[in-house]
Amino acid sequence: MIYLDHAATTPVRDEVVKEMEPYFIKYFGNPSTYYKIGREAKKAMEKARVQVAELIGAKPEEVIFTNGGTESDNAAIKGIAFKNKKKGNHIITSVIEHPAVDETCKYLEKQGFEVTYLPVYEEGIVRVEDVKSAIRDDTILITIMHANNEIGTIQPIAEIGKIAKENNIAFHSDAVQSVGKIPVDVNDLNVDLLSLSSHKIYGPKGVGALFVRKGVRLEEVIHGGGQEKNLNSGTENVPGMVGLGKACEIAKNELNHNITYLTQLRDDLTDKILNSIEKSYLNGDLKRRVPGTVNLRFTGIEGEGLVLLLDGKGICAATGSACSSKKLEASPVLKAIGLEDVDSHGSLRLTFGSENTPEDVDKTVEAIKESVAKLRAMSPIWNKKE
Ligand code: PLP
Repeated sequence: MIYLDHAATTPVRDEVVKEMEPYFIKYFGNPSTYYKIGREAKKAMEKARVQVAELIGAKPEEVIFTNGGTESDNAAIKGIAFKNKKKGNHIITSVIEHPAVDETCKYLEKQGFEVTYLPVYEEGIVRVEDVKSAIRDDTILITIMHANNEIGTIQPIAEIGKIAKENNIAFHSDAVQSVGKIPVDVNDLNVDLLSLSSHKIYGPKGVGALFVRKGVRLEEVIHGGGQEKNLNSGTENVPGMVGLGKACEIAKNELNHNITYLTQLRDDLTDKILNSIEKSYLNGDLKRRVPGTVNLRFTGIEGEGLVLLLDGKGICAATGSACSSKKLEASPVLKAIGLEDVDSHGSLRLTFGSENTPEDVDKTVEAIKESVAKLRAMSPIWNKKE
């Protein structure tokens, strides 16, 4: 199998599984208790908090554990919105956010908030001038993702954060697709809130974190026993937190190597495809993207068909984000960069991980060439003389 869908999820590293194991069995205690196995669980949880903080340049007390990227996004966006309702009801976001942000904003619209959705143009990137002109007296939150999950484009978060700060507006960034892939430092990025998820960085599923800058106040979304500074009540998922912590430690140590290595694999594959398949194109900006992500489109074919043919050859790839790949509508992200529905449907997302090899690239290029030719031969919309 060649796994090229690391933006959907990643395998859990052996070192991570090993680190988690004692907290399922030996130290299964509730971290709120005072006897040894509870204290050990609490200690492990706090060590994990330090590991997460170190990856993103935060203080450990600014890290709140959650059950993943979706919960972090919800806690941040609803938390700011409900806390600041009296101050204003306007939120700024972009048209290419993950549903975890987009649907939360849509929910808030139903609750009486107003949301401005900024465009991203052909390159798939929000323009700082657009953020500036969208700000109103009643703007209480800007939420813009760091790296896009479908096309990998990196947004100018540090610049947007500076504007948010100057205007005294809370700034959240969904960094689920950038943490562990490019340098992410909450101070350099000028963010007040930042979401990350464990299963995108070789940690277990069902755990994530939200950075909440000291002094930023959120209304709690989950009500209960008051764990995680009242922001995520419920008995803690200690093994998950330990796994996320270890995954962050590994990601930090391997970051520089992976940036160089994955960029090489990605660019090699992109060049080989674009040079050998006629009417093939890259979606989104060529340079301003995370190292492992490439989104291509092929005139005259259906991405779904291509993914199925590749699966038959043992290659795991995606048409859009995993969450939307079962829907038949064109991807909103590809629409947002100006693609017609027919071109969006002919798109393929490949996302590399550190276990991929140059041989994987060559095999995948050959498999795509064969599959695209096969699909075009059957396609009623493919016309070579076009
Ligand atoms: N945000 C982005 C950009 C994502 O890519 C994802 C997952 O696909 C999420 C949020 C949701 O994260 P989780 O699956 O941990 O809830």
